[in-house]
Amino acid sequence: ITPTLNELKKASKNSKILIATYFESLDEKIQKKLSISDIDAIHLDLLRGVENKNYIQNEKKILSLGVIDGRNIWKSDLNQQIKVIQQSVKPENEVFISTSCSLLYCPYDLDLEKKIPNEIKRWLSFSKQKLNELNLIKKFINKDDKNISKELEQNRLDILDRQNSKLIHDSIVKKRLETIDSSTTKRKSGYTQRSIIHKDIFKLPKFPTTTIGSFPQTLDVRQARAKFKKGELDEASYEKFLKDKTIGTIKKQEEIDIDVIVHGEFERNDMVEYFGEHLKGFTFSSSGWVQSYGSRCVKPPIIYGDISRSKAMTVHWSKFAQEQTNKIVKGMLTGPITILQWSFVRDDQSRKNTAQEIAFAIRDEVEDLEQNGIKIIQIDEPALREGLPLKKGKWKNYLDWSVGCFKIASSVVKDETQIHTHMCYGEFDDIIESIAALDADVISIETSRSRMELLKTFEKFKYPNEIGPGVFDIHSPRVPSIEEMTNLLMKATKNVDSEKIWVNPDCGLKTRGWPETINALQNMVLAAKNLRKSSG
Ligand code: GLN
Ligand code: ZN
Repeated sequence: ITPTLNELKKASKNSKILIATYFESLDEKIQKKLSISDIDAIHLDLLRGVENKNYIQNEKKILSLGVIDGRNIWKSDLNQQIKVIQQSVKPENEVFISTSCSLLYCPYDLDLEKKIPNEIKRWLSFSKQKLNELNLIKKFINKDDKNISKELEQNRLDILDRQNSKLIHDSIVKKRLETIDSSTTKRKSGYTQRSIIHKDIFKLPKFPTTTIGSFPQTLDVRQARAKFKKGELDEASYEKFLKDKTIGTIKKQEEIDIDVIVHGEFERNDMVEYFGEHLKGFTFSSSGWVQSYGSRCVKPPIIYGDISRSKAMTVHWSKFAQEQTNKIVKGMLTGPITILQWSFVRDDQSRKNTAQEIAFAIRDEVEDLEQNGIKIIQIDEPALREGLPLKKGKWKNYLDWSVGCFKIASSVVKDETQIHTHMCYGEFDDIIESIAALDADVISIETSRSRMELLKTFEKFKYPNEIGPGVFDIHSPRVPSIEEMTNLLMKATKNVDSEKIWVNPDCGLKTRGWPETINALQNMVLAAKNLRKSSG
């Protein structure tokens, strides 16, 4: 590292070089290498990298201290940050103060916000406000403005208000976390026992077919939702619209002869937002957009308080769908880790505890679905892998509690009920044991783009439960032929026991149009039927 940095410095001629590190603390070894190199300055994230504080005292280089959280939307405790700076920086040190990382992950301006309730808004700070926070700290430390004491006092009051707010703390929710033990996180019987029961009840053919949940959210669906939200469409008409869509989608799946069908998720605009809107402890911004990838942006929900469910969130639609058909309708939920990962999360308690609260809310929903006659329930966890800490040494702890959360959500059911999960990616060589520990009866994963190569993991590791390796890529309108999907499935049987294979697309069909969706699913079902014939 050091020679590379020295080269950089040499090439920079008269410019100074600052090496910016963030999202974690610097490794001690790497810190030493930076320190002895010729670069001029180092940026440290003091929020996500708590240990970084230890480097400040003895570092001779110019330091840039990331004291304002660039990754979240909470107001900083300015008095606290001032103390940190005053205690760790010697007067002769040359320092910058900065946000912990770039503001790419933080929305633009809280002043534009129209939706967040005022009680909560006073706890928040978006990019523009964060820059002002930096300014206040600077002015205070440099003693170059006498008029900021009022602003600092206001900040102190806002921080205090948040800490003591009745909106945040719910003792029933907190007590529930203390009840977690092995009976909360364990199915009644093991998979082998359960699978015998499932075979008996569901009587599914070999290579059963299903989809991941959503069906095309065409213009009419998005328009109806927008009109309903604006008040231009009354509730009864919107409900009727959604029912017709659901019925139509069930009919199509029956015609195509899919074995385990879904209701289509037309009532949801987003798999996390929908649940956030139904849970206590969440709020939503009107313009808190951040980049997700490329040109895609998202408006993550904000988790500000203890999370609980006041009423059922999905039972209405799953039950309605089940009443329309003799086929089994799979209930569809988003898992606790995905809800956590794709939201702005409160920073006044551990992510683990927040995830456990969500897990209990999902558990209540699972229980309700079961009691309302839903026999198969899928809990999506596409964000499980992206939640992995940057440092490998921290993986085990994360995987333990995140798997634990999935199990809190899923283990409440009777043996008769089948739990599915879905992850968009199929690349999990390094966490396969945790995936198995989820103990979902069936997992669906993306494998079609790698032409089943990702299933190699299952050669080395005998995955104990059932698995649906995606047989077509939903990112493209291309319709794969029956033969192509048959071949993929044959390939899958080389790595996975054919008794355990499900047949499904890679992910939800939300972004596709109807014509290609129907054609691809027809071919998929025919491919499964081919395989049934050839494998006897
Ligand atoms: N059930 C969701 C859907 O079908 C899953 C989406 C996802 O994995 N990203 O849209
Ligand atoms: Zn997916």
